[in-house]
Amino acid sequence: MAIKAVCPGSFDPVTYGHLDIIQRAANVFDTVIVAVLNNTSKNPLFTVEQRIELLKEVTKDIPNVEVDSFNGLLIDYMKQKQANTIVRGLRAISDFEYELQVASINRKLDDSIETFFMMTNNKYSYLSSSIVKEVAKYHASVSDLVPPIVEEALMKKYGQI
Ligand code: ADP
Repeated sequence: MAIKAVCPGSFDPVTYGHLDIIQRAANVFDTVIVAVLNNTSKNPLFTVEQRIELLKEVTKDIPNVEVDSFNGLLIDYMKQKQANTIVRGLRAISDFEYELQVASINRKLDDSIETFFMMTNNKYSYLSSSIVKEVAKYHASVSDLVPPIVEEALMKKYGQI
């Protein structure tokens, strides 16, 4: 059976940490759908369309990766896509508690869907979209943290170009 995995998240914006997880998931699963959560309760820097565009550009050389967005419950989206595997990255112990809670509620909602966790690459264990935004806001270089196209988009947002 071909395994279709979904990597859900905010990706506001995509970082090298995300890209590492996406690439490694694509090495393991047949298809990987990177799904941007259209979450009205967060106050994103980039629109969903911009986040999708950046994700498409930075994953264009990975043939089994698709980029999409979703609203509402992840479990409903998984059914709609006929996907059975959720992939999440784990950075620190602080991620663990929240991830355990989400994976547990998802299993309660549908026990045919499995959540897989991938440990962060040590190089990126400190990296998050929030940190990147904080650094870019004060006009410091984020070139080691995000792909060049994302760096350019951040510079535009923060009025540097
Ligand atoms: P969310 O708001 O759902 O946590 P994010 O965009 O922050 O969305 O993250 C999406 C996924 O990528 C999550 O599983 C998160 O743990 C993972 N991730 C983000 N940054 C890193 C990183 N540096 N290393 C490993 N995984 C990461």
